[in-house]
Amino acid sequence: MRGAVIYAPGDVRVEQRDDPKIIEPTDAIIRISATCVCGSDLWDWRGINAVTEPTPMGHEYCGIVEEVGGEVGSIKPGQFVIGSFFASDNTCPHCRAGYQTSCQHRQFVGAGGAQAEALRVPLADGTLLATPEVPDDALLPSLLTASDVLGTGWFAAAAANVRPGMTVAVVGDGAVGLLGVLAANQFGAGRIIAMSRHEARQKLAREFGATDIVTERSDEGVARIKDLTDGVGADAVLECVGTNESMIQAIGSTRPGGFVGYVGVPHGVALQGEPLFYSHVGLHGGPAPVRRFLPELIDLIWTGKINPGKVFDLSLPLEQVADGYAAMDERRAIKAFLRP
Ligand SMILES: [Zn+2]
Repeated sequence: MRGAVIYAPGDVRVEQRDDPKIIEPTDAIIRISATCVCGSDLWDWRGINAVTEPTPMGHEYCGIVEEVGGEVGSIKPGQFVIGSFFASDNTCPHCRAGYQTSCQHRQFVGAGGAQAEALRVPLADGTLLATPEVPDDALLPSLLTASDVLGTGWFAAAAANVRPGMTVAVVGDGAVGLLGVLAANQFGAGRIIAMSRHEARQKLAREFGATDIVTERSDEGVARIKDLTDGVGADAVLECVGTNESMIQAIGSTRPGGFVGYVGVPHGVALQGEPLFYSHVGLHGGPAPVRRFLPELIDLIWTGKINPGKVFDLSLPLEQVADGYAAMDERRAIKAFLRP
């Protein structure tokens, strides 16, 4: 099969790879219908995460089940399925508590490289969810977002404890931040302040439910949020970047007693205990337990209530995956959709 492999920063190639095979009796092999480039893939592309050996890329996927192992019961060949980037058994105490990305048996599905024609998914029964039937092509972009980026924005809103009527601020205007806006809107937020300097992203944020746009960053961004909230701060803040600056901005924008839902993978975040102590702000985040939200997200997409696939503003054949990385790196594209 064909699949994307990173060799060095800025060097992602599509090449012939071994077809995935059933290794454990709990595995499934799926034929990829659509995949994409994640903001977190750019850490490797930019050389911020070291690339020590040629590594298959991609961890967002949906497709048709081709084969299952002998112990797989609920997933069957021919079904169209979506799963999280971490495989989970969905039965251990952490899974039952709704933290499937901390599953006691979790495995990184992306190790197999989802930017490819086919993928091995471990723990298929606990990881994958089938749609009611095989969807039309038009639904693929939105369904694909449920594999990671939508579920991550959704978790940011859930972790920040967004409730109806709240004022919510969203730090980060990448695909996760934009879908955090969509999630906050679905959770019933009364006011949603999107922090963005990019016109096309501001427009999409408004389409997803943002009521206010703040272009300032750091201390000026915090001051602007305070201005907009009578000096109080936002009730809930979604941190969707992962830098020290964005984290401090998120905490500073939150009212005492409010929560920051943080889903940006931290790079160089070093919080000081004392200002955090006096902020009275709660922090809750981590790798999004996408599997918890999958049934609801698939239903909302299937019934046309949300259209998160709008974050894909670039669509490419898999063979041109490197163009997708470059476009996202240079912020010419929000998110690149790939068809094998
Ligand atoms: Zn588990």
